[in-house]
Parts: sequence; structure tokens; C-alpha cells
Amino acid sequence: MPSPVAFASYCPASSSLVPSLVRSDLRGHLNDIKALVLSTVKSLPNSPIPSPIQSLRQGNWVKLICGASFEDAADVRNLSLVYTLAGVDCIDCAADAAVVGAVNEGIDAAMSIAMVKRPWVMISVNDDKEDVHFRKAEFDPEDCPSDCPRPCEKVCPASAIVIQRVVEGGGSVENNRLDKLQGGVITERCYGCGRCFSSCPYDRISATTYARDPTTTSKLLQRSDVDAIEIHTSGRRTDLFNLLWDSLVDSVENAKLVALDGRPMSGDIGKGATREAIAFAIQLAATCNKPHGFYQLAGGTNAFTIESLKKYGLFQTNHIDYVIGNSSEARIEDEQIDPRQAYIGGIAYGGYARKIVGKVLCKLPRQDGHAWIEDHPEYLLEALNEALTLVGPVKGYIDYRER
Ligand code: SF4
Ligand code: SF4
Repeated sequence: MPSPVAFASYCPASSSLVPSLVRSDLRGHLNDIKALVLSTVKSLPNSPIPSPIQSLRQGNWVKLICGASFEDAADVRNLSLVYTLAGVDCIDCAADAAVVGAVNEGIDAAMSIAMVKRPWVMISVNDDKEDVHFRKAEFDPEDCPSDCPRPCEKVCPASAIVIQRVVEGGGSVENNRLDKLQGGVITERCYGCGRCFSSCPYDRISATTYARDPTTTSKLLQRSDVDAIEIHTSGRRTDLFNLLWDSLVDSVENAKLVALDGRPMSGDIGKGATREAIAFAIQLAATCNKPHGFYQLAGGTNAFTIESLKKYGLFQTNHIDYVIGNSSEARIEDEQIDPRQAYIGGIAYGGYARKIVGKVLCKLPRQDGHAWIEDHPEYLLEALNEALTLVGPVKGYIDYRER
């Protein structure tokens, strides 16, 4: 259940968020956070902090997935801030200008708190309407039985369903005068996981699918604060993929990375959720003639994924050296890479990452739809510690838990 405060001040993605820049009266309180971030950086065997491409090559790349359909700008901003401080290499978000703005605001705020690297910003798009990342749940609560115990609300991992019981023409809930339900799906928070569909005993919830507009995507790719694109494709409709690709041809050259995504899975529903992801990695490892590029495990990833990958020898356990090139981007000499170490280039965390930090974010009071986590250093510290439990094992941070 979302807190009443969080719902009442829910912030639509179209809202303009004022750039963070930490309030001067709070800077002193952020010392613990700086110290925590510094301890993670110091624990790295190589210095300076690896760039995103170096992380991919070293096999310890971490991506935060905000969600291809998750458009709550306030939460996206705060998630981006927390995970930038934790040291992620990339933040993947909806291909929407307001959401991209929120991600960059979170990154800027993090960089104003501590000396961390700027992660790449990746936008997610689809080539057809089959991918469930690009759908929204919807129902009319007035069609729901007024005495429904609302399991849909309880099962939603994004707190995207909020329903109130209302009594028409006076009376009270206590007198059992429950005339109807109001509220429903907060569209911007719904990321299409589908859990509410099967929870409804009256089959009232349906899904609306959509495809991201290629023109908008192309414009976003031309922005200097967008670095990468992920295309969700089933691989079955090459005509649709080609159509999308052709419409991006003038802008995709600006991307530092183009990623492909296939079948969605969730990692926030328990330890077993990662088994399918590991099984896929094992299968991929055994495949001859693998496609070129880096492999990133996503979908079904959670706090148990790294441990399992290591068990099967699919994740690097040793750090490798790298050299700094002449350009601003550091580079690794290819011959230095041990293919076994770099086999899985990295991990992307979505539902699980949002869940562990989201339980802190929902405690933030919102004012006029804004909720800046750095205004509440105690919550920021709590959220950062949560994020480090996920990012730390991939990066090889050593002593962050001791602080
Ligand atoms: S589809 Fe998932 S995120 Fe959307 S409302 Fe239903 S349970 Fe919540
Ligand atoms: S579970 Fe179904 S009937 Fe009950 S409130 Fe939710 S959508 Fe309505």
C-alpha cells in the first residue's frame, strides 16, 4: 500500500522538476554520504573510476533499469540520484523527454554531492506492440464491486493502483454504505508487469499496448544527455525492426551503445526469479557463433544473480588493468582482456533495484509533487546502502558495509 502522503501528492511525469543542486543548509548533513561513496571508490583496485565502456570490458558493468514505461518523474529522478552515487554505469529509462530530464537531474544532483562518474543515459524503445514492457494496465473502478478487497492494489509492485472507497450522498464506511470505488491505475507509475491482471477476481483489468514514436526517439538521441538506446524486439518481425531502424538512421550514430532486449522477466519476486536468467547465460555460453558485442544479463536479476553466475564460472572474479587513452574516454587494450573474465559484460537490475530503493522513496514527503531525497539525508543514506548491496558485489567494493 502506498502511503497516503505519497498518493495525495503524486507527480505526473510532465511536471517540470526544478534542478536539484543541494541546499546549502543540508550540505553538512551529507558528509556521511560523501564518506560512504568515497569508501566505495577507495576500495576499487584501479583508480580513477572506470568509465562505462571500461566497466563493460572489465565485466563489471551495472545498469539501472528505471523501466521502459515507468514515468513518475520524481521517483525516476531520485532512483537516478541514488544509483549514480552507488556507481552504476548506465541508467535506462523511458524514451520520453520529461523522464530523460528527470534522470539527468538525478545524475547532476548526485554529482553535486560526491565525486562520482556520470553514467550513460539509455532510452528504451520497441519495434512492435508485443513487448510487455510497453503496456499499461487500466480499469474503471466504478465497474468494480464496492466490497472488493482490492487484491490488485496489494499485488502491484509499483504502487500504481490506488483506490478509495467513497460513500455517495453521505453516510459512512463504518455503516457499510460503500457505494462505489474511485481512483484506479496511476498511468505514469504502471510499467506493465501484469501482476494485477491475474489478481482480479472479476477480470476487470485490461492492458493497453503502445509503441514509442520513432520521431521522438530520434530527437532524444540527438540530445547531448542521451548516450545509448535499447531496442526491445521479439526478433519475429524484421520488417518492423527495419522500419524503426530506418527512422533512427540519422540519429543512432550519436549513440555510444545500441542494445537489444528480448523476453522480459522479473527479479523482484524472490530468490528463484534469477534461475531463468542464469539458465539463459549458461545456454549462451555453450553457443557457437555468438553475436559480436558485450553480453549483459537483464531480466530476473536480483541480489542472488552474481553469486550464481560466479558459481557457474560466468562472471569475472578478478579485476584487470586498463590504460588511459589520449581522448577523454579511457580505453582498454583488447589484448589485455581475458575472454573468460569479460564473458558476461555486466548486469542490469530493474524491478529488484527499484523495489529495494523504492521502499525508502515511499517514505519521502512530497511537496507540490516534488520529493528530493537529498533534502532528507537520513533517507538518502538508507537508500544508498540498499543500492550498494546490489551494485557493490558487481563492482567489487570491499568495505562499504563497515561504515
Ligand atoms: S501492470 Fe503491474 S505495474 Fe501496472 S498496475 Fe498492474 S501490477 Fe501495477
Ligand atoms: S481486484 Fe478487480 S474488481 Fe477488485 S478493485 Fe481491483 S480491479 Fe476492481
